[in-house]
Order: sequence, then structure tokens, then C-alpha cells
Amino acid sequence: MRSILLTGGCGFIGSHLLDQLVLRSDVDRIVVLDNLWTGTRANIAHIRDERVSIEIDDVERFTSDTKFDEIIHMASPASPPWYMREPIRTITANIGGAINLLDALKPGGRFSFASTSEVYGDPLVSPQPESYRGSVDCTGPRSSYDESKRCTESLLFEMRRTRGIDIRVVRLFNVYGPRTRIDDGRAVSNFIGQALNDGVLTVYGDGEQSRSWGYVEDIVEGLARFFWRDNIAYGGPLNLGNNREVSVIDVARYIADLVPGCRISFMPPVPQDPTNRCPDLTLCNRILPGWRAKTSYEDGVAKTLDWFRGQMAGHASMPKPPGPVFIDEVEHYKSSSASSS
Ligand code: UDP
Repeated sequence: MRSILLTGGCGFIGSHLLDQLVLRSDVDRIVVLDNLWTGTRANIAHIRDERVSIEIDDVERFTSDTKFDEIIHMASPASPPWYMREPIRTITANIGGAINLLDALKPGGRFSFASTSEVYGDPLVSPQPESYRGSVDCTGPRSSYDESKRCTESLLFEMRRTRGIDIRVVRLFNVYGPRTRIDDGRAVSNFIGQALNDGVLTVYGDGEQSRSWGYVEDIVEGLARFFWRDNIAYGGPLNLGNNREVSVIDVARYIADLVPGCRISFMPPVPQDPTNRCPDLTLCNRILPGWRAKTSYEDGVAKTLDWFRGQMAGHASMPKPPGPVFIDEVEHYKSSSASSS
């Protein structure tokens, strides 16, 4: 029988992955490690399984007397306003967390890691295959997230090369769906929350920037297959996402049309906001045959809207996301450099 450590298990994607983990019959212990920074206990409150226990702690500080057969490292904020507000925590959760957690892995155990399409930065090729090395600015406003994911990938591939550790590294493209925080701030959830609140959907820039939006259940099905279910020799990196690319303005218009009385408000563009993002799924189709992001964008948005309606019932107003930190900071930078020149 096996023991598993799932970090970030109270988070948006992590909690959906826990729903899959408890279906396993070959596991007798699942420890969820989460510091409740962006995750919530509510996300896993429905789990009734005596094999599951919860440790509230930071991944970079966690210690355990026993080691695990599998460690799945999902603990990290993924929403730009959240990780931009706390870059040190973001970097330590990813890199510090991975370094610390490697000590808790049994010899011969498997370390799985949720990396990101952000390793491609503002890509100059589309769609992006895993071999594309990306266009990332290590001094830019997204760097705490992008670079810590990249460095954690480096760490794991080096651990495999030098110590033979069994790894699984997946690069997730944009994911949306139920259990996103109401104050998460990412596009789909923010537009839905805004539509249900004051009806003003904030589009940064002209909205022509695009993303490939994957519904969480589909993505988690792919994760479960790659991390444990399928017998796969390949450790990664593996793109996982929906390859239907839709512009931000189209998402905003679509959601605005679903809720009467909405309007779109254009905000200043976000510095270094990637212009496009779309997975090349050639490798994914070979490694996970038959998998695809099968939930249509329209169905996924409808399900997410329903879930948000349920969450917001009884709330007088929507909790606000931390806010686009970059806009006021850029204004501050502009005015202070103008006054000093
Ligand atoms: N975005 C937007 N309005 C919002 C939230 C996001 O226009 O209220 C844009 C954001 O600038 C980016 C895209 O939507 O171009 C996707 O942003 P998100 O935060 O969901 O994820 P990212 O891919 O940027 O990490």
C-alpha cells in the first residue's frame, strides 16, 4: 500500500485532484499539505475518507517522520495579482518547497510537479511545443512565478539526471472552473464574479490577447493519467490544456451576454501581459492517447457560472481580488521617473 503527499490540496486544482486520488484503492494514506494562502478548507470539506489527513503548513518548512511513495507538488498561487503581491512566498513555495519535499520522498518514489505554460513567457511561436524554450523576462513583473516554475523544473530534471528520481512534470495552460476563489482575479472567474456583482467586466488593454482556457475536470483527468494512472515511461515536460485559443475580449463579451445588464470596462494594459498562449498537444496526444479537453468552452463557463451563483448567494458584495498591482505601480514608476528627469 502506498502513501501520498499532495501539496496545495486545498487549492483550486489541487482539491479536484484530491477527488481523483481518493478513488484509488492502492493507497492507504493521503496527506494534504496546504498553508491556506490561496486554498480553503471549504474546497475539501466534502471529502469523507479516513485515509486523508490535512497538515496546515508551508511546503518549504514541512517535516515528516515518515516518507512518501508519491509526492504531488501543486502548492503555489497561480493568479497574477496574488503571486505579484507576494513574490518571495511564490518563489519559496515552488523552489523551496520542491527542495524541502525531495527529502520526504521514499527511495524509488515519484515526484510530480505542476509547472505552467508561463515557462513560455510571451511566446514567439504558436502553438508552443514542449521544445520551445520560451521568452521570459527574469526581471519582469511575472518573473516570481515564471522563473520559480522554470527553476523547479530544472531542479527536478537535474534530480532525475543525477539521482535517477522518477519525476512527472506537467505544464498547465489556463484552467478555470468551480472552486476558483471568488477573489482570485484571473480572467474567467473575475468576469463571472463581476457579472454577478456590479456587472462591470474589467478587460485589461484591448482584450485581443488570447489564452487557451481548459475546464478543470478535463485538466485533472489528464493530470491523474499522467501522474499515476497510466503506465508511462515519459517524465515530462508535458503540455496539458485546451488548444482552442480565445481572446480575452471574446471571453468577456460571451460572459457579459449571459448575465443581463453587464458592460465591459477597458482598463490600462498590463505590462508584459503575454499576447498569446496555446498548447501544441502533439506530444500529449501520444503520451495520453484519447485524452482531450472535451468540455466545450460554453459548457465550462455555464458550469462555472452556476457554481459562482451558489457561492455568491448570501454575499452582499463580492470580495475583491488583490487588484492589478502592476497598474498603479507602473503609474508610480512613470511619475517618479518623470519628476527625477
Ligand atoms: N484579464 C483581464 N481582466 C481581468 C483578468 C484578466 O483582461 O479581470 C486578462 C489578463 O490581462 C490576461 C488574460 O486575461 O491577458 C488572462 O489572465 P489570467 O490572470 O486569467 O491568467 P494569465 O494567463 O495572465 O496568467
